[in-house]
Amino acid sequence: MSRRPVVEHRSAIAALLRPIAAVDQIDVGDAYGLVTARTATATTALPVFDNSQMDGFAVRAADVAEGVALPVVQRVFAGSAADPLPRGTASAIMTGAPVPQGADAVIPVEESHEVAAGEGSTVTFDARPSVGAFVRRAGSDIAAGEVIVESGTTLAPRHLGALAAAGVAAVSVWRRPDVAIIVTGSELAPPSASLRPGQIYESNSVALAALAASHGAKVVSVAVVGDGPGEFRERLDEATRSADVVLTSGGVSAGEREPVRDLLADSSAGATESWFGALAMQPGGPQGLSRWQGVPVISLPGNPVSVLVSFEVLVRDALRAVAGLPAVAGERCRVVSPTTSPPGKTQFLRGRRAGGDGVPRVEIVGGPGSHLIATAARADVLVEVDAAVTELTPDMEVPLWPLTP
Ligand code: AMP
Ligand code: MG
Repeated sequence: MSRRPVVEHRSAIAALLRPIAAVDQIDVGDAYGLVTARTATATTALPVFDNSQMDGFAVRAADVAEGVALPVVQRVFAGSAADPLPRGTASAIMTGAPVPQGADAVIPVEESHEVAAGEGSTVTFDARPSVGAFVRRAGSDIAAGEVIVESGTTLAPRHLGALAAAGVAAVSVWRRPDVAIIVTGSELAPPSASLRPGQIYESNSVALAALAASHGAKVVSVAVVGDGPGEFRERLDEATRSADVVLTSGGVSAGEREPVRDLLADSSAGATESWFGALAMQPGGPQGLSRWQGVPVISLPGNPVSVLVSFEVLVRDALRAVAGLPAVAGERCRVVSPTTSPPGKTQFLRGRRAGGDGVPRVEIVGGPGSHLIATAARADVLVEVDAAVTELTPDMEVPLWPLTP
């Protein structure tokens, strides 16, 4: 049987998902973590107007000399407007309040001596300030119409603050795709249940939901179905009514009662663009792709480690691209302990970083079995071993895939 190369299936998934990318206009308050699809420009200059950096007195610098009393003609607070400053006078001013027209410096209250604070007071200063002292000039941060956030930016709290400050209420972002998860298996029980004979705890749905959510998706539904006839189809019909993508696990190999493959590999049942088969990859050999009601369905195998590996290697970056996120950067590493690898398939071994300056060193964690989920939890990377390589020695540099933290 000829096995599909990993890169080919990876591209097929990317191509299947590409058309679902869409742009939304969204309130800045709801945009944390989303990626801008367009450049955002400042609605206003920042600062919006000349304002005081200190609590103190706004003056004309030239009017100030050591010990000379100036009448205090007004008190300007944040949120109020200021009258122009007559020559030879001072305005009491608070931080963030507008600097009166005519004033060109602010003297901090700590460097002032106000006599009879309030109506009819005067103030003296120790020294003449320099022009511009403690005045935050309008537009000194950004001019109105200037770019405040570039297109393609993952919005961090600092971006949201800057956008709001510049009067930007809504931004254009790549929409998070709505993902539905359906896991299959009549042996599956929730972790809260007590197991009956033959049952195991269901684990793929929680792992997949976390993976999808951490790579730009919004998980809108999670379903666990048995392998009986019709169950999967019913849930798939439901999921494809609202989701942009469906991820399934299990039921894709060559045995009997493979509900995912039985329904979706058979084009007469209604699936389109269907491909089911084996990849030249381990773990994660059996895989499938299709559309159901036009919605992309990515069918991963059932073994828990296969699910992790196939998501990271095949699905992760395609999903990220839909959400406008960049692909996760790959690295290279050296495997410190001698390791053998069977020929003919690309192996993705679980590994753990073990230090190293420059090229990271990695030790292999556990064996190749795709059921070893507890062992896989101790890993933080995947090590890719080419199909042609049967023996890894510490002098070889091989690709490293960071596991989703
Ligand atoms: P399958 O691909 O459906 O034949 O499943 C392969 C192996 O993975 C079997 O041992 C299943 O019991 C196990 N498995 C399938 N789905 C899950 C799941 N959601 N959680 C935990 N184990 C699973
Ligand atoms: Mg199964």
